[in-house]
Amino acid sequence: MDSEFARETSLLLGVNDVSPVFEQNAAGRSPFLLTSDHFGRLIPKPLGDLGLPESELVRHIAWDIGIAGVAMRLSQMLDAHLVAQRYSRLVIDCNRPPHVASSIPRLSEATTIPGNEGLSREDVELRRRAIFDPYHRRIDAVIDQRAHGRRPTILVALHSFTPVYAGVARPWHIGTLYHRDKTLPPLLLQALRAEGDLVVGDNEPYAVSDETDYTIPVHGEARGLVNIGIEIRQDLISDESGQQQWAERLARILAEIEAKLLLQPTA
Ligand SMILES: [Zn+2]
Repeated sequence: MDSEFARETSLLLGVNDVSPVFEQNAAGRSPFLLTSDHFGRLIPKPLGDLGLPESELVRHIAWDIGIAGVAMRLSQMLDAHLVAQRYSRLVIDCNRPPHVASSIPRLSEATTIPGNEGLSREDVELRRRAIFDPYHRRIDAVIDQRAHGRRPTILVALHSFTPVYAGVARPWHIGTLYHRDKTLPPLLLQALRAEGDLVVGDNEPYAVSDETDYTIPVHGEARGLVNIGIEIRQDLISDESGQQQWAERLARILAEIEAKLLLQPTA
C-alpha cells in the first residue's frame, strides 16, 4: 500500500510529506470509533497557500478549531480508536461527497479561495487520491477489521462549529447531528440536556444529509453502524483547558451511553 500511495500521489504528496491519516489508540478496546474529518489544516506544498493570507488559513473555514485537542483526549479517556484527517478542508473536504461543489470550495463563508478556481479534472482527482481516498479507505478498513473480529463499532464523528456564521450568532454549546440512526441520537440528546448547563442543538447548527455529508452516511449508515455526529462550539474549545473539560464531559456521557446500549439488542 505504501508504494501504491507514493505512486498515486507523487504530484501532490510524496513519501516525505505528512500522511493525511492520523491515528491514535488503534488498539483501543472501546466500541466507540472516533473520526475527525476536519482535524488539521495542512496544505500540500504544490498548492502553496491556496492564494489566501495566513489570517484566513487559521479560521474555521480551513479546519474545525479546537476539535483535535478534544478528539485526542477523548480517544485516551475512552480507550477508543481515533482516525483523523490532517489536511485542510479547503484543499478537499473529507465530509463531502466528491461530486458536490463544496468538496473543493471556491467560496467558504465570505472568502473566495483563489487556489480552487479553474481546476482541471486532473487537479481534482489528485486531491481526491492524495487525501480523501486514503482517509476513507482507512476508516473502511478499520470498520472491516473490527467486524471481522466481532467487535462492536459505534461511529462518532467529531466536529466543531464557528460561534458566528455570516454575522449570525449561534446559541448552542453543542449539537448532535444525525439522519437515519434511531438508537444513539435520542440517548445523546437526553444525556446532554440532563447536564443542565448546556444549550443543545438537535440537528443544529447542521443536519446530516447524503448531499452535505460523507462520513456518517457512508461509514455509519450504509454499514449499519450505530452513529452520531457531534459539533462543539469553537470558542468553548479554543484552549487546552476547554478541550480537557469537554473531553471529560463527553467521555463520562459516552461511557454512560455505552452501558445503556449494552442492554439493548441493537448493540
Ligand atoms: Zn467539521
